[in-house]
Amino acid sequence: MYILRIVLDVPLPRLFDYRAEDASQEDIGKRAVVPFGTSSKVGLVMALAETSDQPKEKLKAVDAVLRDMPSLPGDWLALCEFCARYYQFPIGQVIALALPPLLRRGKLPRLIKERPPQTASIVLKPELLPEQQAAVKAIASAGGFETFLLHGITGSGKTEVYLRAIERVLDQGGQAAMLVPEIALTPQLEKRVSERFPAARVVSAHSGISDGTRARGFLAALDGRVDIVLGTRLSVFTPLPRLRLIVVDEEHDASFKQQEGLRYSARDVAVFRAKQLNIPIVLGSATPSLESFHHAVSGRYRLFSLTRRAVAEALPEVRTVDTRKEKLQDGVSAALLGALAKRLEQGEQSLVFLNRRGYAPVLACPACGWVSRCRRCAANLVVHLADKRLRCHHCGMEGGIPRVCPDCGNQDIHPFGRGTQRLESALTERFPTARILRIDRDSASTPKKWQTMLDSIHEGRADILVGTQMMAKGHDFPKLTLVGVVGADAALFAADFRAPERLFSQLMQGGGRSGRADLPGEVLIQTEYPEHPLYRTLAEHDYAAFARAQLEERKQAGFPPFSFQALLRAEAKTMETALNWLAAARVAAGRAVVTLYDPVPMRLHRLMNLDRAQLLVESVNRPALQAFLAAWMEQLHAMKAPGDLRWHLDVDPLEF
Ligand code: ADP
Ligand code: ZN
Ligand code: ZN
Repeated sequence: MYILRIVLDVPLPRLFDYRAEDASQEDIGKRAVVPFGTSSKVGLVMALAETSDQPKEKLKAVDAVLRDMPSLPGDWLALCEFCARYYQFPIGQVIALALPPLLRRGKLPRLIKERPPQTASIVLKPELLPEQQAAVKAIASAGGFETFLLHGITGSGKTEVYLRAIERVLDQGGQAAMLVPEIALTPQLEKRVSERFPAARVVSAHSGISDGTRARGFLAALDGRVDIVLGTRLSVFTPLPRLRLIVVDEEHDASFKQQEGLRYSARDVAVFRAKQLNIPIVLGSATPSLESFHHAVSGRYRLFSLTRRAVAEALPEVRTVDTRKEKLQDGVSAALLGALAKRLEQGEQSLVFLNRRGYAPVLACPACGWVSRCRRCAANLVVHLADKRLRCHHCGMEGGIPRVCPDCGNQDIHPFGRGTQRLESALTERFPTARILRIDRDSASTPKKWQTMLDSIHEGRADILVGTQMMAKGHDFPKLTLVGVVGADAALFAADFRAPERLFSQLMQGGGRSGRADLPGEVLIQTEYPEHPLYRTLAEHDYAAFARAQLEERKQAGFPPFSFQALLRAEAKTMETALNWLAAARVAAGRAVVTLYDPVPMRLHRLMNLDRAQLLVESVNRPALQAFLAAWMEQLHAMKAPGDLRWHLDVDPLEF
């Protein structure tokens, strides 16, 4: 008789032992149905053992080992174990995330006939530019694990470099994985990849595809029948027995980090996976994360720069508009209005970038000081005039727009500040004949709507686009020649030390949307701080100068990447409960080798009727932090927590 160590989707960081009469080594990595409590669960066999800590007579028998699916390979199990360890998360819940839902439930997808691979047609490939050539050559000659940072402005031919590197891997019979930050970017990339590799089998892996399709793709990958996997952060968990190359495009993008449950960074997990498999990994971006850039500067990563655009030679001209001197009309300067009018005349497209959706961030009464607050969160209700609602952007609570002040009855209440809807209506008034398209999470609420919008931009059915950061990501708009930036200054002085990095990246990426084809582009930034180094380095298209200055500041302050952080967050019905529990957690840590800061309320200190607080843990030594967290987690799990308190740990947090 054998004992199977089985991992189950439960919030406990441990395996469960079951008896199995007919088990074998082959069962490791297979799903199994086991009795659990009063019902049964589907788990995954992690190990085969001869003995158990439990007395034998107490062990229950496995109901069935599901042998209808190939075993998940050892490296896949090890990857999940790494995530569990690194992010201090129960292994069963890591595996539950890594497995497609259908497989997790013990089922198999219906098989469908596969599309036979195209017979090779003639594929056109551009001749590589010298900088591309150098990168491709270096990636090809990597002897094993090596991290390449491909820093190249938008349109400089990074994707072309990825495709060449992938081509080589496929020629040698290997598999490649390519991660992108956004579902919306996968169709266009998929098209480009399939056109380049007509004979290759390409599958997409992201949360936007059906359960059946996802499970089929996963199984095909596991079987080795897939050549290229394309997908969002989840796809980092696709089993690929012949994986020889990983590419992470737009590696700086915050959406690679999951903000709930297993708070993993798909980019960091991808680097671990490359190391584990001893294969090269390419991280690409026009504005690398400061973490990655720091590694490149310090020699841990190999840096390759693509400094010129592959097609359009000229970079957009970036200028600031000093809003202390220029009077604004509805938030827009005469300079920007003039530039918009010129594009309309020339039949070109413009984008006005404002990273705040809704009509106005708040409704207020000037007579008594009432403001529209969310009853459940420490946040204002945002005015949405498009559907005449007040809405909380944090918890989704909404209501009608009152006609009079609910406190004093004053009829003269106003929306204050400006969001995309307000900008849209101001521009509509200003340019009544222009076709204005607003693109934010309200108007592009589904991938399908987003795609329809992208299509109308491409087909030239829009003149002025008003958009949030959604517009800054990875799309080409050949007729777009002007980008106006409104309301960006707030990020210069935000409390979050990553805000400038994010702003620079958004503006650089957003500006990069302009002037891609033969039409020169222009970027106009409205600001009260035209001399700010962030805007100056942006105008000079000098990411490296910006990054070095930021890294110097981070070094002085001891912020990442010069230290490593974790946040313990707690939420409860009262702030006192949350803070007290965190204080107890801090006491439990005793005299630690890491730095533990005082528990403090979070910036959004109330969400959905729960008060939220956090405790920052920091160390200059990652292994020391890891060792501390592992020991501390055991103490935290053992600590008594009030019934209404929930807590979690966020390792390498991006949001504070
Ligand atoms: P990025 O990924 O950096 O935005 P792409 O790889 O998409 O850049 O390249 C931008 C455009 O330039 C694409 O249309 C691509 O086909 C083209 N391109 C890339 N490399 C070359 C090259 N060496 N010669 C000619 N065109 C190229
Ligand atoms: Zn009032
Ligand atoms: Zn709310």
